[in-house]
Amino acid sequence: MRVMLVSMPFANLRWGSLALGLLKSALQERGIGCDVAYLNFDLAERIGLELYHWIADSFAFVLGGERLFARELFGPQLPDDDRYWQEVLAVADPRLGHQEREDYLRVAGEVRPFLDDCARAIDWSHYAVVGFTASFQQTLASLCLADRIKRVCPATKVLLGGAACQGPMGVALLRQFPQLDYVFLGEADVAMPMLVAQLAQGRVGRLPPGVAGRENIAFLENAASSGGTIIKQDSTGREDTAIFGSVATATDGRRCFDAAISGSEASAASAQSTPSAAGRKQETAQIQQPEAAPEGSLPAGAIDNSVLVTDLDALPYPNFDDYFARLQRSPLRGQIEPMLFFETSRGCWWGQKHQCAFCGLNGPQLHFRSKSPGRALAELEHLVRRYGVRKANSADNVLDIRYLDTLMPRLADSGLALEFVYELKTNLSRRQVEQLVRAGLRAAQLGVETFSTSILRQIGKGATAAQNIQALKWFTALGVEVKWNLLYGFPGEDPHQYADLARLLPLLYHLAPPVAVGRVRVDRFSPYFRDPLRFGITNVRPHRAFGFVYPFAESVLWDLAYYFEYDYHDRRDPLRYAGPLIAAAETWQQLAGTVALHGFDRPDGVLLVTDTRPVAQQFQWRLAGAERAVYLFCDTARSWQSICRFVTELPPSDRLGQQQLEQLLDRWIAGGIMLHIDDRYLSLATLAPGLQDDRRT
Ligand code: SF4
Repeated sequence: MRVMLVSMPFANLRWGSLALGLLKSALQERGIGCDVAYLNFDLAERIGLELYHWIADSFAFVLGGERLFARELFGPQLPDDDRYWQEVLAVADPRLGHQEREDYLRVAGEVRPFLDDCARAIDWSHYAVVGFTASFQQTLASLCLADRIKRVCPATKVLLGGAACQGPMGVALLRQFPQLDYVFLGEADVAMPMLVAQLAQGRVGRLPPGVAGRENIAFLENAASSGGTIIKQDSTGREDTAIFGSVATATDGRRCFDAAISGSEASAASAQSTPSAAGRKQETAQIQQPEAAPEGSLPAGAIDNSVLVTDLDALPYPNFDDYFARLQRSPLRGQIEPMLFFETSRGCWWGQKHQCAFCGLNGPQLHFRSKSPGRALAELEHLVRRYGVRKANSADNVLDIRYLDTLMPRLADSGLALEFVYELKTNLSRRQVEQLVRAGLRAAQLGVETFSTSILRQIGKGATAAQNIQALKWFTALGVEVKWNLLYGFPGEDPHQYADLARLLPLLYHLAPPVAVGRVRVDRFSPYFRDPLRFGITNVRPHRAFGFVYPFAESVLWDLAYYFEYDYHDRRDPLRYAGPLIAAAETWQQLAGTVALHGFDRPDGVLLVTDTRPVAQQFQWRLAGAERAVYLFCDTARSWQSICRFVTELPPSDRLGQQQLEQLLDRWIAGGIMLHIDDRYLSLATLAPGLQDDRRT
């Protein structure tokens, strides 16, 4: 038996699919041959890199890429292009004009020949199993090609997995699309090789955990409609085990996964026990449904009993051979700088305790697991050696904070010269930021969201406005490319804060601006989605774009959608009060990189702070002695008391009285080079490396 794994548009062209790379390795370990087809390149080569990136990057939340393939799959069953343009795309981005519309339709015209070529270019009959990975904006393209494959090779088993298939979305996809045989409702590391092995032996009696197939779809839907808890026991004979396999059967002895059934902390804890003990344990997957869901839709949470890999060290190294071979063959290779896609953890250590209100990582997926530092380093060394690439992007939701003292120093000393990207929370110290940069961090996705501490508290973000600003400042100062989003319209937020926020932003124009500014979304699996009334959210409904991609009833769209629209219980319109903030953010984006507030030491020991922001009150500030010391001390946000203590420790000639100190801080605040926020004083200038006072950070 041979397996083909497929990555369709609009997957990123700069790296291979981590999911497919891991599955290829897992299959190879079982002696099952596997190829990976990066057909996303084929479309990019047809339409050009610029248009490909435009669709991939600009339209994800309004399903622009999905709509291109939906037109092919459903034709006139869908509302026409005019309506899609006017009711979805033009609403999302009013700047889209005639040329953009022409470009979009030009790409639409390439979809059918692209799919025809995909169907012809590969001898699909050579493969007993074809598996597609569907992150967002890959689902419809996968369904289109799966349809063509099934028409010529009806016996080929078609599998679908990935973020777009989690829980009810996967069950609904299986129900609606006969070209699919099996869908993975969660992590597929264990289930997929098991299922393929079963298919190779020609017997699929009991499906591995987390797999939806024609065999169990009625069970899944019945469980949904009968009140919401799937109960699964081990092989002692309960009827449900005829439908899903158990952890005990999931562990086949060839690779000892430390595996748990997802769905509750208790069951995750059972992963620490032996397979047989875990097998004796009753496991439950709690199903939750938001109040607004229509009759007949599936549970919102987990009809997902997929096996979570709790020991990430047990995973194989991902195999990206097919990606690099395809890149080498591509006429676009000169325009694409490849990166390694790696993961050192799954889930979120913060969200496991306090999930951010808007975050769509669902319960089981939040369960935090990370690789041991030694294993993570060995994997990176392996990937660099094998592919000769020294730029890497992490798939982690958030950096394992323990790595700051373990993996990062080892990476810095490794001689690997790896340059990498991570997603980070902002509650870092300057030393930690420097440690990351020493290790090779060159770009970061920062979880900023807003500069209001009260909103950050409301959404459970676990950081303050001062931490957000100082993290932005340090990363900017150290030359790290920073990406972050500015959100507004959080349910329950106090509108009066927005005038202050709009006044604050011009003080930050020397820092990295937000990549995007937008109203906060309601995503499936988020606390907003699970419990909308608690947050003052009403009328939750699938984002309107889903009705332009799937010609199905509202209850089915509910199951397929990941993004949702909503109203506020108090009927507010955030645009009424967020307008000045949005305008200030747009100015920030326009000014990016053209203005500075930067401090460096002159040879005579004077700290020279140069200010070219539009709000600058003076071009240069010369700070010497105590002034220099206090300004550097406040590179980290400081309380009044700690500044007073600091001043008493200065040499007697530099000491300041309380009144002098107060006047000094007030002068800096009035001059816009210091911020008083969260009852802390924070110097705003980016500082040349090595300049900050780090005695107390
Ligand atoms: S938004 Fe980030 S920090 Fe918050 S729960 Fe989600 S992954 Fe974790």
